[in-house]
Amino acid sequence: MLTVEDIHTYYGESHALQGVSLEVEAGEVVCLLGRNGAGKSTTLKSIMGVTPPRRGRVMFEGQDIQGLPAHRIARLGIALVPEDRRIFPGLSVYENLEVAMQPGHAGERRWTPERVLDTYPMLAELRHQDGATLSGGQQQMLAIARALVTEPRLLLLDEPNEGLAPVIVKQIGELIDDLASTTTILFTDQSVPFALRHAQKAYILQKGQVAYAGTTAELRENPELQERYLSVA
Ligand code: ATP
Repeated sequence: MLTVEDIHTYYGESHALQGVSLEVEAGEVVCLLGRNGAGKSTTLKSIMGVTPPRRGRVMFEGQDIQGLPAHRIARLGIALVPEDRRIFPGLSVYENLEVAMQPGHAGERRWTPERVLDTYPMLAELRHQDGATLSGGQQQMLAIARALVTEPRLLLLDEPNEGLAPVIVKQIGELIDDLASTTTILFTDQSVPFALRHAQKAYILQKGQVAYAGTTAELRENPELQERYLSVA
């Protein structure tokens, strides 16, 4: 579904991604692991066209999307939930969902704002509340729900657990498990336990390069990899 081939992404002269390649098959949940600054966010932003790679190729469902602007990539069926969630203050939960509706969407809509609220009662209870007043966990749920309204076939989640209490992390995990039957997911994280529970495949990034690619089952058997490349959970 998604093939990232040897991408190089820069911030000015700073060479953030130095030849990253990865593969996500339709129906998979894949985790991109790595410490702070390893290049996880930059990889997701490179796929989405937010920080376009200078070299390399990104293929989505057989189409070369490298160089397309982010809004075109979104329309092709990829959604990114950024690390900072970007909930719109001053808009209610419902309005935050409503603004994400793509007017030109062809075909059947699976995720209208109403359908999202029916599926996630926790958000339904908050439907009239200002997005700015939500807790971190509620904002993360809303950010994912808002991405769903764009009808993605591939969902990119940037550190969905960051700063959240364990009980909320568990809910985010359940949400990912739930979505996985219909949506392909690539998410980032800094440590392994969540990836082991919710992803089948993992990549570890270090200094803008892929240091490990394999199944999460193999990663589980390899504690020394975790020590070498990742934060201790
Ligand atoms: P984090 O958990 O901190 O988000 P990450 O693995 O997602 O880490 P990136 O945010 O992709 O890492 O950063 C990769 C490298 O690019 C780092 O060296 C970082 O300092 C640099 N970088 C990221 N964003 C920018 C930017 N806007 N301008 C300049 N350098 C940046």
